[in-house]
Amino acid sequence: MIYLDHNATTPLAPAVRDAMLPWVGGDFGNPSSAHTIGQTARAAVDEARARVAGQLGCAPGEVVFTGGGTEADLLALVGSALAAGTPPTGRVVISAIEHEAVLEAAALLGRLGMTVTEVRPGPDGRVDAQRFIDACAPDTVVASLMLASNETGVLQPVAEVAAALRSRPVVVHTDAVQAIGKVPVSFADLDVDLLSLSGHKFGGPKGVGALLVRHGQQLAPLMGGSQEAGRRGGTHNVAAIVGLGQAALGIDVRLEQMRSRGAERDRLEAELGRRLGDVMVHGGSAPRVPNTASVAFAGVDAAALLMRLDLADLCVSRGSACASGAEAPSHVLRAMDVAPAWALATLRLSLGVETRATEIEQAIELIVGAVEAQRAATRSNL
Ligand code: PLP
Repeated sequence: MIYLDHNATTPLAPAVRDAMLPWVGGDFGNPSSAHTIGQTARAAVDEARARVAGQLGCAPGEVVFTGGGTEADLLALVGSALAAGTPPTGRVVISAIEHEAVLEAAALLGRLGMTVTEVRPGPDGRVDAQRFIDACAPDTVVASLMLASNETGVLQPVAEVAAALRSRPVVVHTDAVQAIGKVPVSFADLDVDLLSLSGHKFGGPKGVGALLVRHGQQLAPLMGGSQEAGRRGGTHNVAAIVGLGQAALGIDVRLEQMRSRGAERDRLEAELGRRLGDVMVHGGSAPRVPNTASVAFAGVDAAALLMRLDLADLCVSRGSACASGAEAPSHVLRAMDVAPAWALATLRLSLGVETRATEIEQAIELIVGAVEAQRAATRSNL
């Protein structure tokens, strides 16, 4: 099996699995308990917190563990808007290419009475910083711009936006879920107020993530309880949090390994273009994370292509993983003004640190064969 769907999820790193095992076995304490077993678990959670903070350039007290990236995004947008006023008023500004987690959180704020402004990217998939800043009208309470697109891999000008909004009373959030482990990410350098991350995108377990919250930033909790300094209630998932901490320790090595994936991704795109012709690479001219290729093949139905490739044991994705199954072109490609026929002919290929050069060679052969077969079948039906 060749797995080129690492933006959907990554395999659990062996060191992460080893670190988690005691916490799904004998060590079962609740970190909120005062006795020794509880305090042993508390120490493990605190160590994981220090590891996440150390790797991502923030203080341990700025890490709020969540049940994944989706929850971190919801807490960021809704928690900060409710902290600014209940019921929430004013404006929330997001880009049109955000993950559903942010789109839906903004939509919820819209239903609660806020004005939602969506900023479209250029045709290269990159949101213009000045356009985003200009969209932040004086009534803006919270602004959210993702660091890297899950569909195209295009990097967004988050630091520039945060710097421009720093002197204004706007809470700036970035969804960094797809950037961590692929490009260096520092909460301090980005100078945002809130940053979301998710464990399973960089070798950690699913169902755990974190929201980094700048010291002093107010956040209304969405789940009651004293855990996470009252910002996110609920008994800690100790095994998952320990796994997230271990995955964070592995970020530097992943970054080193990712560097060479950029050249392989470029070769994959170039080779598919050369062998097949009529190929479009979405976001190809913009700065991108090194592992992601979003490629459209003229005259091909991506859903059928995906199934053909799955039968050949090659795992890829059509547009965003969360949107697969839906017939509509992805909202990201639509926002980039990609024609529907091209959008519906698009595959997302995302490499991982485990991906070998020989697997890329095999993937090229499989995709070329599958696209040629589909094109031939279409021609014979005409
Ligand atoms: N944000 C982005 C950019 C993502 O790609 C994803 C997952 O695909 C999420 C948020 C949601 O993260 P999780 O799967 O941990 O809920």
